[in-house]
Amino acid sequence: MDPISPPRCLSLDLEVGKDGGHIRALAAVRPDTGRRLVHSGRGMANALAKLDDVANGASFVLGHNLIAFDLPILRAAKPDLRLLKLPAVDTLRLNPLAFPRNPYHGLVKHYQDGGFKRGRVNDPEMDARLTLRLFGDQHKGLGSASPDLLAAWHWLCTPEPAGVDRALNDFFSQVREARRPAQAEAKVAIQRMFRDTTCTLYGREVVANAGRFGWALAYALAWLSVAGGNSVMPPWVRHQFPDAGRLVRRLRDSACTDPACGWCREHHDARKELNRWFGFEGFRPEPADATGHPLQQAIVEEAMAGNPVLGILPTGTGKSLCYQIPALSRYDKTGALTVVISPLVALMADQVAGLEERGIGCCATINGLLSMPERAAALDRVRLGDVGILLISPEQLRSRTVRRVLDQREIGAWVLDEAHCLSRWGHEFRPDYRYVGRFIREKAGDGPVPQVLCLTATAKPDVIDDIARHFREELDIELRVFDGGTERANLTFAVVPTTGGEKFTHIHQILMSDLPPEVPGGAIVYCATRQQTEDVAEFLQAKQVAADRFHAGLPPETKKEVQRRFIGGELRAIAATNAFGMGIDKPDVRLVIHADIPGSLENYLQEAGRAGRDRAAARCVLLYATDDVERQFGMSARSRLSREEIHGILRALRNLDRKKRFSGDVVATAGEILGEDEDKAFERDSATDDTRVRTAVAWLEESELLTRGNYSGPFLTMCLVA
Ligand SMILES: [Zn+2]
Repeated sequence: MDPISPPRCLSLDLEVGKDGGHIRALAAVRPDTGRRLVHSGRGMANALAKLDDVANGASFVLGHNLIAFDLPILRAAKPDLRLLKLPAVDTLRLNPLAFPRNPYHGLVKHYQDGGFKRGRVNDPEMDARLTLRLFGDQHKGLGSASPDLLAAWHWLCTPEPAGVDRALNDFFSQVREARRPAQAEAKVAIQRMFRDTTCTLYGREVVANAGRFGWALAYALAWLSVAGGNSVMPPWVRHQFPDAGRLVRRLRDSACTDPACGWCREHHDARKELNRWFGFEGFRPEPADATGHPLQQAIVEEAMAGNPVLGILPTGTGKSLCYQIPALSRYDKTGALTVVISPLVALMADQVAGLEERGIGCCATINGLLSMPERAAALDRVRLGDVGILLISPEQLRSRTVRRVLDQREIGAWVLDEAHCLSRWGHEFRPDYRYVGRFIREKAGDGPVPQVLCLTATAKPDVIDDIARHFREELDIELRVFDGGTERANLTFAVVPTTGGEKFTHIHQILMSDLPPEVPGGAIVYCATRQQTEDVAEFLQAKQVAADRFHAGLPPETKKEVQRRFIGGELRAIAATNAFGMGIDKPDVRLVIHADIPGSLENYLQEAGRAGRDRAAARCVLLYATDDVERQFGMSARSRLSREEIHGILRALRNLDRKKRFSGDVVATAGEILGEDEDKAFERDSATDDTRVRTAVAWLEESELLTRGNYSGPFLTMCLVA
């Protein structure tokens, strides 16, 4: 049609009561005759009877979300309406074809999901007129699509050109100034669209069956026409036309084995993807598997093939790359989002910045350290499709806003970084990690579970078993384990006996002998307590060593500053508790001194492993004093939970529930819960109470005595099982 002359249609909009079936208001507008019918409130039956009169002479009915929403309601309310026999044109369905690119999001935001029917003062007449304007915009938008694309859409979207699709057939004919193409012509057009953008083999297969896919293939083609950018298939398309997403995955993200397929040989090759995104020629040769194949590459290949993986790589051997390459590659191929769960909130921004420095801008983070505007901006970017890798802390999955935004995207994979935090046998157990599996399962619903990729530097067998069992039970998947071990050939280890009185002098002597002033690099001195880090730093400063301290009690700015000065080489030595180092990437740590016996062998290996990440020689020295060992055992006992304490918390929760009449839905802070621990079963310790109460609650959830609810600041919310 000529965009200037108004279409011969009836633009219709209904407003429906909360019960879903009862029509509260209606508007019908005829752009060609100028007639209109607007009615709300009582007497709806009479108004409906007049509808056919207004529709008289129209060639089709137009509406936004007309097919899934308005027509079924109208059909139920007045089945004998003649206009129900007219062809229907739904502007919601045309949107992804007319505006496949994201920059249109701003322009057509409220058109995206049928949303202008909800969430603001309803004005059906305005909506009916807006729909007409949108229809005109779509006519213009489609005018700029390529001839092949238009021919394909015309054929795919009008399988009954003389029947129910006749209005749409006319519409496409006018846009294209051509009749509906024959099957052969359309297939040739689709085939040309596939060239260089899909697997050759699967492309041919889809073309052969093109007629079967209809609208789903039309949407897949729309997405393909802008692939590689930030375009996202609207969620309603993924739900109403699940084949659209499946087609894109089949065409671009399932490698064929044909050596002649240019797409698969180029885009499913781990080394080529490594080079494309990071510019590296090859993966790190160490650690390697039994056949000498680099483990990093093996993990990336397995992940790119879409299989569930548990990768164990020593700290500093390029663990992040193992998820980044598959995630970037997948985002490019299908637009899917990879969600990375990480406990290292303080370092998330650094990881995003690290990728940005490489020119990769599609990574974002959402965590408790963001300001409200930063958080809103990040959520927006995720929603609009600008983000391919999202780093979040696990408790964010309990936030309703975050869940809503994730619903807008197709999730390609879940990555659990520092996956040992999931294991109750690990010393860094994070209760919220155990919630992730359940979240993945609930989110996937009846659909397939996205890929799960776990990464850790911990190779302790019971931790690995615990992780594997968790996903077997929660998601019925079997993680394939790639074990790079914790061996580091460039490190030498020494134990030096000491006493409380000599310890500081020994630290200084080892520093001077193992890291003499002419050797570049830095040293970390691990201490058991915050006070001791202060004392050691002060002692070294007095000896003219550029030293400082680091522990969890320092203000965030100070911590950041100390880290920065140490990484930059300004500080020669840093006295730290084990709060320091997780994820810190300083390649030239030449010396790690343990001033105290660490909490476990696992802790020790992880902390010592921060030495010599540049693979040049480095030394790890453990100072050993008998009285330390006793103190350390005292400390581990304090952070452990006894069965009695866990039961004490359960009793306290039941008391709270009864007293406050929560009826099973308890909302309380850790302090309030402990206040109800009448038998004093819980060993009190102000420094660790909060974490230990949360851990106890996580254990209770594991035992199915309660389920935890959404996260909200200092409050724990849970539902007690009667
Ligand atoms: Zn292929």
